Amino acid sequence: MKRDTICVQGGYTPGNGEPRQIPIVQSTTFKYATSEEMGKLFDLEASGYFYTRLQNPTNDYVAAKIAELEGGTAAMLTSSGQAANFFSMFNICGAGDHLVASASIYGGTYNLLSVTMKRMGIEVTFVDPDAPAEELDKAFRPNTKLLFGETIANPALTVLDIEKFAETAHRHGVPLIVDNTFATPVNCRPFEWGADIVTHSTTKYMDGHGAGVGGAIVDSGKFDWMRYADKYPGLCTPDESYHGVTYVKKFGNGGAFITKCTAQLMRDLGSIQSPQNAFLLNLGLESLHVRMARHCENGQAAAEFLAAHPKVSYVNYCGLPTDRYHALAKKYLPNGSCGVVSFGLAGGRQAAEIFMKHLKLAAIETHVADARTCCLNPASSTHRQMNEEQLREAGVPPELVRMSCGIENKDDLIADLAQALDAV
Ligand SMILES: *Cc1c(COP(=O)(O)O)cnc(C)c1O
Repeated sequence: MKRDTICVQGGYTPGNGEPRQIPIVQSTTFKYATSEEMGKLFDLEASGYFYTRLQNPTNDYVAAKIAELEGGTAAMLTSSGQAANFFSMFNICGAGDHLVASASIYGGTYNLLSVTMKRMGIEVTFVDPDAPAEELDKAFRPNTKLLFGETIANPALTVLDIEKFAETAHRHGVPLIVDNTFATPVNCRPFEWGADIVTHSTTKYMDGHGAGVGGAIVDSGKFDWMRYADKYPGLCTPDESYHGVTYVKKFGNGGAFITKCTAQLMRDLGSIQSPQNAFLLNLGLESLHVRMARHCENGQAAAEFLAAHPKVSYVNYCGLPTDRYHALAKKYLPNGSCGVVSFGLAGGRQAAEIFMKHLKLAAIETHVADARTCCLNPASSTHRQMNEEQLREAGVPPELVRMSCGIENKDDLIADLAQALDAV
């Protein structure tokens, strides 16, 4: 099936007389007639539901749709994008290990890696994603367990050279994990370019209506864990907390990663998505393909308008032929990237503040990737504790505005930008 059709119909095929829409299974527990039957579930001998912290049918329908969309073999939902990224990494690394990550990633992920995972004894080396492969090679160590990057980085809008990253990861015998939040599988499927694991903050375009925080992890099933069995003992040797099951042997390359992540990390850390939120997420997914096209159309129109405006000093949007990432976008994002555009006001911080004050249709929010257009001037809001120099170092200069184009009519969006720029 084409991705458009999967968005609408994937993951759930009701039988005769069953609900057309996915049922919300609002139940913490599931009933069994005998202890033996339930025991088989606990031993991972049979598949089924027993407690929603581990698995719930509503979540599984939605996860199956996301797996199909990405072209993966298995997927799971998490309570947030942060949980998805943490679980995807912690599933294969622990104290004493090391990982390599693109330096151009979401601030929350940067913090997760550089502060919290560091406290857990996991070292990270950040690399410039635009560096040549030979440069990236230098970051790897014998105890490196994975490489991480974002298809389109939030907020820098860097486009990842996924093939270069995948080849680099595989040269060092580790998987590539790609956070595909901004592109969504509608615009890019990282597995087709060699990525091994994909993560999402479903809070963004997948939900698309600002209704629920959530995340997802998808496995391509392509990484050959057994080939590097000494590096990934958690997947390739018996798990004593599950009666000696060896995940790769029992569930194959296609199922091992997600089964282990569910059986161990969800069990112990418990960051489930509620079935209610999974239901809302599925409503968002049903129109993802239609919305992404409009987000991209509006993003392109806004970027072109801004690039031609005398009060705007620069625009970052990979859909512009002048953009630094245009060539990579043509390769990886031929149908469009996303609706997020960033730009600088020629008049600096003060101009940015006046511009923001005069917006009527675009709301001021920290959120992005929503049906409603929103804008943010990081220097006067999220990053206001930083001085001028720190702002520039962090890649959010004081004149920078990040705009997330919604799915309204583009003429209205541009009229709003025009009148706010007139006020500057
Ligand atoms: C928002 C975001 C996250 C974090 O997701 P939450 O759902 O807010 O926890 C991770 N990665 C990217 C690229 C994001 O945009």
